[in-house]
Amino acid sequence: MEGDLDNIVERCASLLTSADGIWSGCGLLLALSKSGDENRISFARVAQEIAARDGGAVLRRLFYIVSLATLTSSKVVVERCLRDGLPPEGAERGRGPEENGTGTGREKTHSEREPEEGKIGRGPEEKENARQIYARLVLHIEHFSGPARLLEALLNSPQLTAFNSLMVAASLESLANFARASKAFREAIREAAEERNVFEQFGDLLRAEYLAKMSRRIALEIRLALASLAVSLAYSVDSQMWAIVRGLPKLIAAIYEASPLRESSKYSERLMSPAYRCNMALVRLLSVDSAAEKLRAHNALEGFRPHKRKINMAEPECHPWTTFKIRLQDGELSLTREMSAANWKPMEDRLNGRFWTPVVCSRKLCAAGREPDVGKGFSKCGRCQVARYCSKEHQKLHWETHKKHCKADQAKKDVTD
Ligand SMILES: [Zn+2]
Ligand SMILES: [Zn+2]
Repeated sequence: MEGDLDNIVERCASLLTSADGIWSGCGLLLALSKSGDENRISFARVAQEIAARDGGAVLRRLFYIVSLATLTSSKVVVERCLRDGLPPEGAERGRGPEENGTGTGREKTHSEREPEEGKIGRGPEEKENARQIYARLVLHIEHFSGPARLLEALLNSPQLTAFNSLMVAASLESLANFARASKAFREAIREAAEERNVFEQFGDLLRAEYLAKMSRRIALEIRLALASLAVSLAYSVDSQMWAIVRGLPKLIAAIYEASPLRESSKYSERLMSPAYRCNMALVRLLSVDSAAEKLRAHNALEGFRPHKRKINMAEPECHPWTTFKIRLQDGELSLTREMSAANWKPMEDRLNGRFWTPVVCSRKLCAAGREPDVGKGFSKCGRCQVARYCSKEHQKLHWETHKKHCKADQAKKDVTD
């Protein structure tokens, strides 16, 4: 697989940038992303190469189609999107983000990775980009679950139903991916939640009569994406409290409601169970005293009680309901030993299954594997902030192939000026 990696990246990039190959390119990406754990590293590298490609031009073309969902499982892709911002809709040639004045003459070729996520590019533009991307994804979700379905009903077309529901599932998956990887994006959700009940809006997508119209596979994707969103908001210290206040427990209850009593009997498929992910979101919230307190104040117990069988069946070997109930009633019981937020993070990543792609060294023959969960991470290319390296040596070796893409952003700017 490694030897073919350049070919795969080339093929993906050329398909994705051609007018009629874009859907084949998406199919290829999707197949790669689903090709199993052992190939996860390879997919991670392809995703990062696509993000770096031509200064982000390839990525910008993909913004409005389903491939974004697959690619944003990589944090590197999310960071690039948030730095570049929303491309104009219908942008065929992936125009550069002209007004993003980042060219402040950064000369250094490496920069140490910050200990926390999201520091690079944090600032007014990143926040504004996060707001716009969130709003656009929600607009897509509304369109494809609302007005777009009028035609579907009129024509009674199964293909159209499949397409509309796929677009909803993909937009939700992207939204969950952004929420997991970016604090600025979670902030954008918080702001939106002050204006309207976003959790009720998302929960509305779980209505039985809506899900019944689509294939079971896509309905599962929608439940999984929403469960991933719940996990990310529950696991991130900055979003736990406001999410509870704004109605996250109601969304979690709606996911239980829409799930079968048992998704699968196989332990290995547990990560593909939305109810299991919801249990893990609850475990996380209940592990924090202040969050548990907030859940009690909002009488979350009564909201979850109707789903106690599903909660237990999601983890038949430990039947967690009794523990949840005690903690939701009087808070006496401590759920887990004290764990720092940094220790929960790897668990959150793994909980997301194939919705999560590790960060890898951009040098294709690198054997370092995924970036370590804790401690010093890989360094970034100081120019594009996209390419990642386990060592200075690998950065030097990768430069030969990377330089033309790394420079592309600047070159494009010169052309469009
Ligand atoms: Zn670079
Ligand atoms: Zn390396």
